[in-house]
Amino acid sequence: MPELPEVETTRRGLEPLIVDKKIISVHIYKKKLRWEIPQHLIATLKNQTIRKISRRAKYLLIDFSDGQLVMHLGMTGSISVVPIIEPLKKHHHFELKLDNSSSMRFHDPRRFGSILWQKNDEELSLLKKLGPEPLSYEFDENSLFNASIGKTKNIKTFIMDSNIVVGVGNIYASESLFLAGISPKREAGKTSKKRYKILVNCIKEVLSESINNGGTTLNDFSNVDGEAGYFYQILSVYDRKDMPCNRCSGTIKKIVQNQRATYYCPKCQH
Ligand code: ZN
Repeated sequence: MPELPEVETTRRGLEPLIVDKKIISVHIYKKKLRWEIPQHLIATLKNQTIRKISRRAKYLLIDFSDGQLVMHLGMTGSISVVPIIEPLKKHHHFELKLDNSSSMRFHDPRRFGSILWQKNDEELSLLKKLGPEPLSYEFDENSLFNASIGKTKNIKTFIMDSNIVVGVGNIYASESLFLAGISPKREAGKTSKKRYKILVNCIKEVLSESINNGGTTLNDFSNVDGEAGYFYQILSVYDRKDMPCNRCSGTIKKIVQNQRATYYCPKCQH
């Protein structure tokens, strides 16, 4: 599943290819993704110029004069910009033909992705309820500590909650907690502000490193130029069950929390 770093990598790759380009035509080949692609986009976006591409959590936001296209890659989605003459593939569901003979295409075999529209004066409810961006100044030990007060759930599940902070996926949660020396089983509400400060820094570090590496979680992640990329980030605990901890030589354990696999070192994390 594309995580925040892959989405940010996609954004950075798309930016120079689509910003300031004008839409010649809009094509919806498969209407039903996670939700239906609004049919009005065909008329709304025609002859419009792309002003900006930004990201909020795992949503890509493409700005036009009247509103924003809101795209989510779901489980298997990817976006590429290719020459307009290149043949479509089976799972290309949406296409924006641009005025420089290139075309932006949305590819999604499992169709859990989404393409939505929000006008300038409205915000989709799914964006409204999101917590702060992990790499922003708003995400600090105060916001995290204050949100944790009274929370009895474990700290790993807590930091993966997008109402608390967005973009801390399963791999990043395990890795950040290891780096911070915090047990994933610790109760969120029983963690000191001092430890949250360390954790916040570790989350920022793990995500930044992954973004710099172009995303880590997918071995079939496609670059915006349509080429498959094989990105690799060294993982300290994730997917390393029964292997030696690289800090203490103890054994990495695997447990399940909130139906998700958690990896940690019982000796280094408490
Ligand atoms: Zn260890």
